[in-house]
Parts: sequence; structure tokens; C-alpha cells
Amino acid sequence: MTQHEFDVVVVGGGIAGLSAANRAAQQGLKVAVLERGDGPQYLCNSRYSGGVLHIAMHNAKDPAEKLIEVINNATNNKADPELARALAATAGRAIDWLQSEGAKYIRVGNIVWQQHVLAPPRPIVAGLDWKGRGPDVTLRQLVTNLEKRGGKMFRLPAVTLMEKEGQSIGVEAGTNDGGGTKQQFYAKAVVLADGGYQGNAALVREHMGIDFAKVKTRGAGTGIGDGMRMARAMGAQFSELKYFYGHMLSRDSFTNDRVWPYPQLDELGTVGIVVNDAGERFVDEGLGGVYVANTIARLADPLSAWAILDHAIWEGPGRTARIPANPQLANAGGTIIRADTLAELAAKTGIAAAQLEATVHGYNEALAGGKTASLTPTRSAHPIVPSPVNKPPYYAVPLCAGMTYTFGGILTDGDGRVMSTRGAPIEGLYAVGATTGGLEGGTTGGGYVGGLIKGVSFGMRAAEHILKTLKG
Ligand SMILES: Cc1cc2nc3c(=O)[nH]c(=O)nc-3n(C[C@H](O)[C@H](O)[C@H](O)COP(=O)(O)OP(=O)(O)OC[C@H]3O[C@@H](n4cnc5c(N)ncnc54)[C@H](O)[C@@H]3O)c2cc1C
Repeated sequence: MTQHEFDVVVVGGGIAGLSAANRAAQQGLKVAVLERGDGPQYLCNSRYSGGVLHIAMHNAKDPAEKLIEVINNATNNKADPELARALAATAGRAIDWLQSEGAKYIRVGNIVWQQHVLAPPRPIVAGLDWKGRGPDVTLRQLVTNLEKRGGKMFRLPAVTLMEKEGQSIGVEAGTNDGGGTKQQFYAKAVVLADGGYQGNAALVREHMGIDFAKVKTRGAGTGIGDGMRMARAMGAQFSELKYFYGHMLSRDSFTNDRVWPYPQLDELGTVGIVVNDAGERFVDEGLGGVYVANTIARLADPLSAWAILDHAIWEGPGRTARIPANPQLANAGGTIIRADTLAELAAKTGIAAAQLEATVHGYNEALAGGKTASLTPTRSAHPIVPSPVNKPPYYAVPLCAGMTYTFGGILTDGDGRVMSTRGAPIEGLYAVGATTGGLEGGTTGGGYVGGLIKGVSFGMRAAEHILKTLKG
């Protein structure tokens, strides 16, 4: 078996892993990254991303106190306070550090959460469009930087953590086809940055109770839970694993690659209403698209949901998203059903007509009387303000849940040290990025903090903690 020795071995070459690797190499440590993807533009969620560095839809350079408040609001106070403090304290520095590594930003007008968008930005069109865009360019720059600093990238999957007396002492890597010689990477510190478990059907079923085949993977699908499996074998602790970050997508996503990952259809479903084939509302749309997507994914039939809206919504919120459904969904060939009456809409969609009319009228009445809270299910007016559905033509858009990445994962402290079930850090073991939990999500499944800034910030923090520990 081939053996290597490094100060730090990072598992995964997304934004989190490459940030940890570069920050460690920049401080003089001998670093290796194991990445199981192929080619110079191996797929990962970081490369697919929209490239917006933000914290819960706010400027990541806002003062730390404000960011903590923002994180707590977004997560219903479910975020681990230590992680929230660590992120808020590091985010501004992380933005500057990434820029010093060669990342370029553009800012989009006065939109507070789009003040640091990796350049060049993706065009305002439907579909997947990552080649040569900011995240792709930035990742390639980080690989170049690492190699210039003497770091090495091995295109191998990490398989098992090596352990001695409860401490992590390195990683064993295999080959992607399962054959070939295994290689052992001894390291003073291992950083798991493998991106979560959204690409693993069995784990999604086990932890979320979701039928993977009926939920659209809205990312690269390269996070397959290896880090979680390896950390579990060393006695790691996990956060709530039940929820995912995602959006409502066109149900056509399963057959039409031009309608995912954009446009997301949250603006349609959450300003109007979401019903099932029986014409009944089944979710509080006002809690936002992430929450609604999690609810759709758990329906007995996750492919039975529809966004119901009217012309005012289609021409209003339908046009204001970053990559808006109107007109991007139609441009990409996505299904949009229009009708002058609700009865006609029901006939065209197969939704139960009498119930659809009753649902829409009941909703409009409750809205006019300021009584949406008494609807069943209730309809919150915050954070999404409801609009009436009463200006023809009416629209029905078939929905599915799109899963971008898993909210839950390995529990760490504020420096990325993996916590054991005994409540103490596991020596030599760190985890960063989307493989970790504790910061996002919560019981409403609605808390989104910002995957890119989380990856860069905790990647840096882990590397800095490793150096501090090695120096004694
Ligand atoms: C369409 C889309 C748009 C998004 N837009 C935004 C946005 O605008 N702003 C934002 O903040 N977030 C956004 N996100 C979320 C964000 O991209 C992720 O949260 C973040 O990139 C996660 O980074 P990561 O490094 O943890 O994981 P990843 O980027 O997924 O990287 C993990 C890497 O680990 C590798 N790996 C997995 N298992 C192993 C193994 N056993 N051995 C070796 N390597 C392994 C994978 O191949 C992969 O390369 C978006 C995501 C998607 C899909």
C-alpha cells in the first residue's frame, strides 16, 4: 500500500475544502486534497452554484452583531450559537481573503444579499450554466494557488479514516472503480469537506423519509455522505438530519434539463397558493420556498403539487426573482397552464374543480378579511406577504421539490473541530462546508444561511485552528 505523509489532508475539493487547503498551505503547512471527481472541472455544488456570497440573504460584510441576528431570524433561533458567532465573526474577512486569492466580485445594484457575487456571474437564463462562471473560475484559481504553494491534489475518493486511540491520524483512499491499490494518507489533521449526503438515495430515505426518485436533485449530486459515514465510525455527533435546502421547481425538471436548477418557482407558490391534485392547500406557503419544498417532498405523492396564481402575481413577483419564472420558465419549455376561469384551469390540469374553487375563494376571503391565520393549513403573512388570486387569467404550474443540499450533518465547534457523542472534539478531525450541520435548518426546515460563505469561513477557521494546535 502506498503511504503519504502530510500535515493536513482535506477530503473534497469544493469551496470549503479548497478554502481550508489554501489557508493551511498559505500558513506553511504541507497539504493534500483528495477529490473523487474527474477532470479539471470536476462537478460539485460549489461549481454549480449561483456564486452569491451572502448570509441569510444579507450582506456578509454587515457587522457581526447584525449577522448573528439575521442568522437567528432565518433559522428560527435554531442555529447553534457558537457556530453563528463564528460565522458572523469571520464572514467579512472570508470575503476579503477569497478576493486576495483571486476571486472577483460584482455587486448587483442595491440588492443587499447580492453585494458579493462571484464574477463573471451566470446569465439570467433558465437551466444549468456553470462553465466559465464565477464559481467555476474561482475553484480553478484555488486549485492553481494550492499547487503553487506546494499543496497536492489527488484524484481519489477518501474511504476510511485512520484512527489511533480515538484520534484521527489520516485517511485511506481507494479508487473510483473500487479496484486498484489503496493509498494511506497520514496527517496531523483531516478536514472532511465532502459536501453532504443529498446524492445518496439510501441516506436521504433513512434520515429524511423522502423518496429520492420523486425529488429532483438540484445540484451536482456529488455529496454522497462519505464524510458522515467516516465521522460516524469515529463517534462523531450529528445535528438534526431531517431537512434540506431546496426550492420549488417545475415538475418538468425530471424530463427537461433546461428548467433546473433555475428558475426556482418559490415566488409563484409562496405569493399565491400551493394545492394538491384534490385542490386542497396542504402547506403554509408564507413560511417560504425551502419550507414548502420540504413539505412537498414528504407528500404521499410528491409529484402532485401545483402553484396556483393569477395574472397579477405572474406579472409581479413572477418577474422579480433573480432568474424569474416569467419569462424564463416559458422560454425553457416548462409547462404553464392558463385559463380564464378556475373551472377551466381545473379541467386543463385534472385538479378537482369544486375543491379548487372553494380553496381559492376561501383563501381570497380570508386575505380580504385579514384572517389568513385561521385558514387550514394556516397562511402566515410573514416572511412572504400573500396576494389574492382573483385577476384572470389564472395560472397553474406543476411543481416538484428540488433538493439542493442537506441542511444537517456533522456537528463541529466554531473552529470546525468534529464533536464526539461524548461532547468533546475528536483530536485531529475537522469538518467544514455542507457536510456539517447545526447552523442551518431547524424544525421548520426553513433556515438558509448561505452555503458558499459558510464553506469559505469555516474552511479558513479550521486551517487556522490546525496551525495553532500544531504550533502548540
Ligand atoms: C444550483 C445551486 C445554486 C447555489 N447557489 C448558491 C449561492 O448563490 N450562494 C450560496 O451561498 N450557496 C449556493 N449554493 C449552495 C452552495 O453551492 C453549497 O452549499 C456549497 O458550494 C457547498 O460547498 P462544499 O465545498 O461544502 O461542497 P461541494 O462544493 O459539493 O464539494 C464537495 C466535494 O467533495 C467531493 N467528495 C465527495 N465525497 C468524496 C470522497 N469520499 N472523497 C473525495 N472527495 C469527495 C465531491 O466530489 C465534491 O467535489 C448553490 C447550490 C446549487 C446546487
